[in-house]
Amino acid sequence: MGVMFARNYVLQSRDNVKRSKKQAVKSGNWIGLAPIGYLHLSDEQGEKNVIPDSERSPFIVKLFELYATGNYSLLKLAEEAEKVGFRTKKGKRVARSQIDSILKNPFYCGMMRTKYGLTEHHYKPLISSSLYQQAQDVSAAYYKKPHKKISEPFILRGMITCAHCGCTVTPEIHKKRYIYYSCTNAKGVCKKVYIREESLVESLSQYFDHIALSNQQIADVTSYLKKIHESENLFLTESLTALRNEQGRIPKRIGQMYDDKLDRLIDEKMYLEKVRDCKARQVKIIEQMARHEQAD
Ligand SMILES: [Zn+2]
Repeated sequence: MGVMFARNYVLQSRDNVKRSKKQAVKSGNWIGLAPIGYLHLSDEQGEKNVIPDSERSPFIVKLFELYATGNYSLLKLAEEAEKVGFRTKKGKRVARSQIDSILKNPFYCGMMRTKYGLTEHHYKPLISSSLYQQAQDVSAAYYKKPHKKISEPFILRGMITCAHCGCTVTPEIHKKRYIYYSCTNAKGVCKKVYIREESLVESLSQYFDHIALSNQQIADVTSYLKKIHESENLFLTESLTALRNEQGRIPKRIGQMYDDKLDRLIDEKMYLEKVRDCKARQVKIIEQMARHEQAD
């Protein structure tokens, strides 16, 4: 009897805690640890508050501003942050992954993400919502880039238009290996004419021969291309690592399920099903890794 009462009491008070947490979030209170760039503060009445950390908040603003320009990869930002002396409260260097979560945290523009969804909080924002949105746009574009590269091996895609009707000239693959370009003929006024990619590149290179770039222009173009390449490589390395880690965990998972089967936590049928799922996932991972490596 006593045990049951105790159990009910625990469950009930747990419910109460849950309810009051939800209430707190709904009225704009942050119930977790203050994100970096903010500090917890208790006033004389013991009321808790979250205020901007005057030492670190300027760095947070700077990170968003730099990232929103689109000229900084996370790696570059981490280097930059280290150079200007941005440190955690424990005095540690701010890692790239941490910068990534800072840039994705809407808390800095006045919103908080909790398990109850995205709600407004009543603390002082460090940045505007539009700066936050710009950073999200940069991040989205940056994650999309390498996929584009994987699916589109065509040199001149999106670069030429038809002289006759002005429509886009698009590439397609014939007989699995020859690349041909033709007018999309969206206006319906052109005849379908196919040109091999090689002959297009050849005639274009004749024009390129006549274009002379100044040394400054060459330097600009080179550094721009380098920047793009860096951020793409970074993405590929990161996703390769994630895939490799997942792949490494699979044998352990299968072993765990085998133990579960022996302990009769799952039956034979479920065990075989789960193993099949794991194997299927393994094949997917290997395919994905191969695709990434090709793109590199
Ligand atoms: Zn045309």
